[in-house]
Amino acid sequence: MLYYSTNHSSPETTLEEAVVKGLATDRGLYMPEHIKALPKEFFNDIDKMSFHEIACRVADAFFGEDIPADELHRIVRDTLSFDCPVAEVNPNIYSLELFHGPTLAFKDVGARFMARLLQYFIKKRSHTRTVNVLVATSGDTGSAVANGFLGVDGIHVYVLYPKGKVSPIQECQFTTLGRNITAVEVDGVFDDCQRLVKSAFMDQDLCQHLTLTSANSINVARFLPQAFYYFNAYARMKAIGKSDNLVISVPSGNFGNITAGLFAHRMGLPVKRFIAANNANDIFYNYLLSGVYSPKASVQTIANAMDVGDPSNFARIFDLYGGSHERISSLISGYTFTDSQIRETMNECYNRTGYILDPHGACGYRALQSGLRENETGVFLETAHPAKFKDTVEQAIDAEIQIPDRLADFMKGQKQSVSMTSDFKDFKAYLMKQ
Ligand SMILES: *Cc1c(COP(=O)(O)O)cnc(C)c1O
Repeated sequence: MLYYSTNHSSPETTLEEAVVKGLATDRGLYMPEHIKALPKEFFNDIDKMSFHEIACRVADAFFGEDIPADELHRIVRDTLSFDCPVAEVNPNIYSLELFHGPTLAFKDVGARFMARLLQYFIKKRSHTRTVNVLVATSGDTGSAVANGFLGVDGIHVYVLYPKGKVSPIQECQFTTLGRNITAVEVDGVFDDCQRLVKSAFMDQDLCQHLTLTSANSINVARFLPQAFYYFNAYARMKAIGKSDNLVISVPSGNFGNITAGLFAHRMGLPVKRFIAANNANDIFYNYLLSGVYSPKASVQTIANAMDVGDPSNFARIFDLYGGSHERISSLISGYTFTDSQIRETMNECYNRTGYILDPHGACGYRALQSGLRENETGVFLETAHPAKFKDTVEQAIDAEIQIPDRLADFMKGQKQSVSMTSDFKDFKAYLMKQ
């Protein structure tokens, strides 16, 4: 299968190159040339299939031309070491819990899948050089990528994070791992981390000295596997007789997750419509209203993994529907919520139902409460475990929450990190010594 750029001014490329390069040379995002529809029989029997079986079928459609089936299924099995169950929260509103992975957030699947796919390509090329992955993080991406790549042969990961700007729980998820993961604590803000990473990719000396790649969320290997979630949501809802007129609400930041859902829809998944639930960063919401996409600086919110002012995957959505505002806005509706609405939602949901939402899932849940029509059933994606945002959640619901063992185990580990200034000269000198 070939991949083209959403900017249409760089040549089509292979899956391998799309995964290794991440972004096309014309700065566009890669899209698969074909999106294969899955047969009716698949959807008829899907409720009897496990998450793993479903994911194998979907992975075959995406990657089957490029990777032998046994290898691909091994990668899928290794990626999905956990389930994504649905929980009833309200009559007609269900939570699809995507937080049962290693770092308790939905990014685990994409990160692990990308790590294993990259490993497959490295082995095939019989590279002797280590591939170095650089990733800048404001919290969540770093932990998912670090854990996804942990122990994968032939790859070393450098996680750059702003000193004192990530929560202690987040920090220990990528600083205590050791092995092939190095945490780089930058004396600066997130934008400094991102600048250091971008400068490294553009530096000739460094690129000759080391094989560098990025694990950014725009990578096709990170974003496409998220489609597994949507097929699984449909299967689990069908199993309880609730799959008619299904509406899926997705807490969205960079819009990678919801775009994977739109791919699933294109492949024939019988979902009636989608909702993009935003925090105060309302760029997509405004696009739906006006037909004009105008990116702006992001604002900080308590659902901080969605603090994005120029969602990169908008380019993919635009491309998928031929740029038609009418097609996009008839399939997707938008909502935007302030921090106080998010807090109020967590509080109300907990008091009425006992279900604890995290600030991101709360946006998805509230959008369904506001927008679900008669005869529709809603599923919102609960993208992170509430304990990842312990202080915010406890304040909102006025109760203590349990920290899952897996998270507590990270906190027992010894923090190891490399201190770095925000000056590229220093970061370059450090990498040249590796
Ligand atoms: C990354 C993230 C999101 C946003 O996902 P996108 O694919 O960027 O839209 C939502 N919730 C959580 C917890 C996240 O980590």
